Amino acid sequence: MPSSIAIAADEAATPESPRTFAPGSQIRVQLPLPLPAYDYRVPEGETLHAGDIVEVPLGRRFEVGVVWGAGTSEIAPGKLKEVANRRDLPPLPEALRQFVTWVAAYTVQETGVVLRMALNAARGLQSVPTVPVIMASGRALEDCRLKVTASRQKLLTAAQRGPFTTATALAKAAGVSPGGVRDLIDAGVLTLSEQRAPSMFETPNPHHGAPRLEPGQAQAARELVDMVGKGFSVTLLEGVTGSGKTEVYLEAVAAALLRGQQVLVLVPEIALTAQSLSRFVGRFGTRPAEWHSDVPGKIRRATWAAVADGSAAVVVGARSALFLPFQNLGLIIVDEEHEGAFKQEEGVIYHARDMAIVRAQITQCPIVLASATPSLETVINVRNRRFKRVHLPQRYNAATLPTIEVIDMRAHPPEKARWGRAWLSPPLVDAVSKTIASGEQAMLFLNRRGYAPVTICRTCGHRLHCPSCTAWLVEHKLSRKLQCHHCGFSAKLPEKCPSCSATESFVPCGPGIERVAEEAMTRWPDARIRAVASDTLERPSAIAELIADILDHRIDLLVGTQVLAKGHHFPALTLVGVVDADLGLSGWDLRAAERCYQMLHQVAGRAGRAQRPGRVLLQTHDPGHPVMQALATGDAETFLAQEIAGRELLAMPPFGRLTALILSGPDEIAVRETAKRLAAVAPQGEGIEVLGPAPAVMAVLRGQHRHRLLLKTARSTKPQPLVAEWLDRVRLPNSVRVQVDVDPYSFM
Ligand code: ADP
Ligand code: ZN
Repeated sequence: MPSSIAIAADEAATPESPRTFAPGSQIRVQLPLPLPAYDYRVPEGETLHAGDIVEVPLGRRFEVGVVWGAGTSEIAPGKLKEVANRRDLPPLPEALRQFVTWVAAYTVQETGVVLRMALNAARGLQSVPTVPVIMASGRALEDCRLKVTASRQKLLTAAQRGPFTTATALAKAAGVSPGGVRDLIDAGVLTLSEQRAPSMFETPNPHHGAPRLEPGQAQAARELVDMVGKGFSVTLLEGVTGSGKTEVYLEAVAAALLRGQQVLVLVPEIALTAQSLSRFVGRFGTRPAEWHSDVPGKIRRATWAAVADGSAAVVVGARSALFLPFQNLGLIIVDEEHEGAFKQEEGVIYHARDMAIVRAQITQCPIVLASATPSLETVINVRNRRFKRVHLPQRYNAATLPTIEVIDMRAHPPEKARWGRAWLSPPLVDAVSKTIASGEQAMLFLNRRGYAPVTICRTCGHRLHCPSCTAWLVEHKLSRKLQCHHCGFSAKLPEKCPSCSATESFVPCGPGIERVAEEAMTRWPDARIRAVASDTLERPSAIAELIADILDHRIDLLVGTQVLAKGHHFPALTLVGVVDADLGLSGWDLRAAERCYQMLHQVAGRAGRAQRPGRVLLQTHDPGHPVMQALATGDAETFLAQEIAGRELLAMPPFGRLTALILSGPDEIAVRETAKRLAAVAPQGEGIEVLGPAPAVMAVLRGQHRHRLLLKTARSTKPQPLVAEWLDRVRLPNSVRVQVDVDPYSFM
C-alpha cells in the first residue's frame, strides 16, 4: 500500500452541514452516474436528511440518488426540480459517503461512478425487502407423522443452524437432496415464511465455538482483541501457513460482536468465501452475510438492507463489500492481504486492501491484515511503524513446516516418454509414486489452465492466436476447444493451418494442467487423479464437492492451478510438486518475483498441514534465482531485503508512486495519436517522469487497441491533481477511452 493512503484519509471530506433539510429547501443529490451532483428542491410535506435515498427527475426519466448536502447552485429554489420521493430505506451512512468521495478523488473518478458501487443493490429497492425464510419450527421430527429418516434428521439439524432462503441451500448445507424439504414444511417441522430481510441473519454467538488457543495464538489474539474499540489502527497478522491465523482473528471478530459492532471480512476470491463461511459457522454458530458477484440479486438487495440497519453483524465478501452501508462497523479483516485479486482492474480501478484501510480510518476502527507472505508494501509499513505486527511463527498442533527442495531441471530433465513429451522429472516422479504408495495424497501444481498454452503449425511455424487479442489461443482438450484466456473467445481447432493450409499439422507446445494430468494418468494408471482449474469448477457446489472428495480421500493425486493453492487445509496431502516454478518470473513486472514467491509459498503451505510432515519439490531451470533460494532455505528476510533495496534504488513503489494511463479504442491510429498528444503535454517538474507512450503488452484486447503511459512521481508528490490537469489539456476523441490506474499492479 502506498503508505500515504492511511494518512491521506485524514483529509477525507469534512462532515456536511446542515444535515436536515426542510420542505422547500435546496439540496444537492449525487446520482450513481458519471455526472456531477445536481440541485433539487425538497417537496412540500417532506423533510430530508443527508444520506437519504431519493428518486429525482433527470431529463425525461427518474433516477435513484443520494442526498449529498445543501444545494449550491445559483438557480432560484422556485425553478429547481423537486425530489420525486424518498425511498423507505436506511440512509447511506456519513462514513460511507465520505469514503465514496475519498475513493473517487484517489482513483481520479467521478463521485457518481464510485457511488454506483455503494448504491447498486439499493436501486431496485422501494423499501426494506422481504425474503423467503426456511427455519426449524421447534417441533421435533418424532412429534409428527413423518418417519424419522437419516436425511430428514440431517435437514432438520441443518435448518436449526439456518435460516435458509431456498430449499436447495438448506439441502446443500445438509448434504442431502432438496426433495425432502417440502414434506418437512408440510409436517410443520420446518416453517416457510416471508420475512423482512434483516431477520435473514441470526445474531452470531461470540461464545459458540471458542477454540482452545495455544499460548502463542492466545497472545496474538489478545493483541488483536486489545485493538477493538480503541479507534483506528492497522495490524499485520503474520503467521506461517497453518498457524491458525483464522482462529486468531475470529477472536477479534468475537470481541467486536460482544460490543455490538459489525465486522467486515474481505477475502480475495469468491472461491475462498465458501471456506470462510464454514469456519465462521463453526465459530459463531450461524452463517454470516455473504457478498460477491455470484450472490443472487434478491439476496443481495436483502443483504444490503440488513447491513444498513445493522442486523447483518458480519459480512464475508469480496472487494465490493467495502461499499456496503455499515452503520456500526467495528472491525475490518483483510485475509490474504498480499493477494493481487484485491486489485479491481475494471471500471473504478482500486486496491481493496488499501481502500479498506481508508475505510477503517474514516470509521475510526481497527483493521487487521492477515497473511503468511505479506506484501512488500505492508512489510515496509511495519518497518516504518505505521502498522503494528502480530506474529505466529509456528504451525498449530506441532505440525512442522514442509521441507522445500529445488529440482534443477537441467540436471534432471524428464525422461523421454513413450507417449511424447513429458514434464515431470525423475525425482518428482519418484516422490509422487512413494507418496501414493504410502496412502497419502500428492498435488502437482501448475498455474496454467488448459492442455497447451500455444498451438503451432509444424509446417510453417504459424501460431494460433486470438482474433481480437494479443494472445495465443490455449488448447482445452476436455472441452475440445481453443480458448483465449483474455476475452473468452473460443473455437474448434481448424482443419487447416490458416497460414499455409497444411492439414493435420498442429502440435501443442508446452504444458497446461490437462497435459500434466495426461502424463500423470499414464505414469500412475491405478491412481485416482483429478485435474482442477477454475474452469472445471464452474458450478458453485463443485468446489465444495471437490474439497469433500479430497478430505474423504477419494483422490490420490491432484493436478491443479492456483484455485487449490490457497487457504485449504487437506490433512493427508503430504507432497506438493511445482511443475514449473519459473512460470511468472519472466517479463517486466515490478512485483513478478514477489508474487512468484508468495504464490509458491502458498502452494507449498498446502503440504503436511497435519501430523505427517510435508515435502515440496520445485522444478526450475534457475535454481540460483533469489525466489528459489528464499523458498529452499526458508530465508524470506534476505529475499525481501533485496527486493526492497531494488525498489528503493529505482524509486519504485512504495518509495515512489506510479500512475498508469491506459488508452484504448477500436481505431489504432486514433489511440496512438491521442497517446502522442497526451505525451506532448505531460506534466513536468522535479521528481516527475513520464514513460511512454508505448503499445501495451496486450496491444489488442477484445478488439480494442491499447497504448500506455506511465507517470512516475516522487513519494511526496500527489499524482491525482497532476493527472486531472493533464487530461484537461487534451481533447479526447470520442472513440478513445482513457483509464487512470493509480498504483498499478498490472503492467499489461
Ligand atoms: P492459517 O490461516 O494460518 O493457514 P488456519 O487458521 O487455517 O491457519 O488453521 C489451520 C488449521 O488448524 C485449521 O484447520 C484450524 O481449524 C486448525 N486450528 C488452528 N488453531 C486451532 C486451535 N487453537 N484449535 C483447534 N484447531 C485449530
Ligand atoms: Zn481474445
